[in-house]
Amino acid sequence: MPLDLQENVPLAPFTTLRVGGPARFFLEARTEAEIADAAAFARDRALPLFVLGGGSNLLVSDAGYPGLVLRAALTGRSMRDAETPAEVLLESAAGEDWNSLVEFAVENNLGGMECLAGIPGDVGGTPVQNVGAYGQEVADTIAEVRAFDLRAAEFVSLSHADCHFAYRRSIFNSIAPDGRDERGRYIVTRVAYRLQRNAPPALRYADLQRFFASRIAAGDTPTLREVYHAIREIRATKGMLAGQPGPNARSAGSFFKNPIVPAQTLTAIAAALSLSPAEIPHWPAPNDQIKLPAAWLIERAGFPRGFHLGRAGISTLHTLALVNRGGATTADLIALRDTITQTVAARFHLRLEQEPVLLGF
Ligand code: NAP
Repeated sequence: MPLDLQENVPLAPFTTLRVGGPARFFLEARTEAEIADAAAFARDRALPLFVLGGGSNLLVSDAGYPGLVLRAALTGRSMRDAETPAEVLLESAAGEDWNSLVEFAVENNLGGMECLAGIPGDVGGTPVQNVGAYGQEVADTIAEVRAFDLRAAEFVSLSHADCHFAYRRSIFNSIAPDGRDERGRYIVTRVAYRLQRNAPPALRYADLQRFFASRIAAGDTPTLREVYHAIREIRATKGMLAGQPGPNARSAGSFFKNPIVPAQTLTAIAAALSLSPAEIPHWPAPNDQIKLPAAWLIERAGFPRGFHLGRAGISTLHTLALVNRGGATTADLIALRDTITQTVAARFHLRLEQEPVLLGF
């Protein structure tokens, strides 16, 4: 069947920031065969290819993208037994809405992703970024990823270990620890999550513990479904709930990663602010490093919530989210991003890393 390709398609409506120019070619692929055909189309014409999911972690340049944007819109999900009776494998096609999958899991009393409720985007994006929140990340549950390998032009199955998951990282978006660069090699079509039957919910983060404080004090454990709804309520108070209306809606979630730094960096920042290290919020990270909250650093560098440069601003509900206040361009957002990162760097000698993927730059 011929491919249903479109030309010069504006990409802004496919992103949650609602900015960016057009794609030269665009295809919404609903089957694996269409994915393979689209890959061949791009290869034969030496066109760059970009895989679009929910567009919730994406910043498209104002000039757009000169290649093929492939939206992986495959749908369907199923459950099958895992190796042990306590576990289930929940499989989902890449184009399914992520929150709906989390809802399905908690409705079936399957634990492991309840804290990842309310995150915008599609299933296919979750292994790429190793989506995480409130103490859970998808790497904790991902058993297998099915993907189209653009190098070998075939579908492959990647194990958990093959994906090299780390904090917000995987082989899909980062250089692997052994130096291999597989970025852009795979198109994720399906993900299998290993979930726990009748598991108690993960109540690790302070926000959640506060939400259920009286229940926890009474020795009562909230259900997975209650945690799902609690997370959605908490996210809504921060303007971080998928599909949330209002002035902070046009955002890509967290715009900056929380920096993972050597312990001396904390001491240096504390000294610069005449504080003790204990007065700065921080958490342990792998390899004796520490994780600093980017939002705290940004605020201390002089950027409060609601700060704006023209049509681009910081969310009024969360310092980590940059928002299109209406009519912004990508250039407006970049100018705000650079002002923030340069000020934080000058103040704390620390480079904030951007979270959204750049396209067409
Ligand atoms: P928060 O609760 O105000 O905490 C600020 C940061 O401190 C978080 O980003 C979190 O790091 C870290 N933190 C808090 N408690 C921790 C603990 N017990 N152990 C280790 N680290 C801890 O955070 P928030 O900004 O409102 O976000 C809440 C959660 O949702 C976080 O996990 C955040 O990553 C996630 N989130 C992600 C996005 C996104 O676009 N990626 C958007 C909104 C929220 P971590 O980020 O490592 O968890």
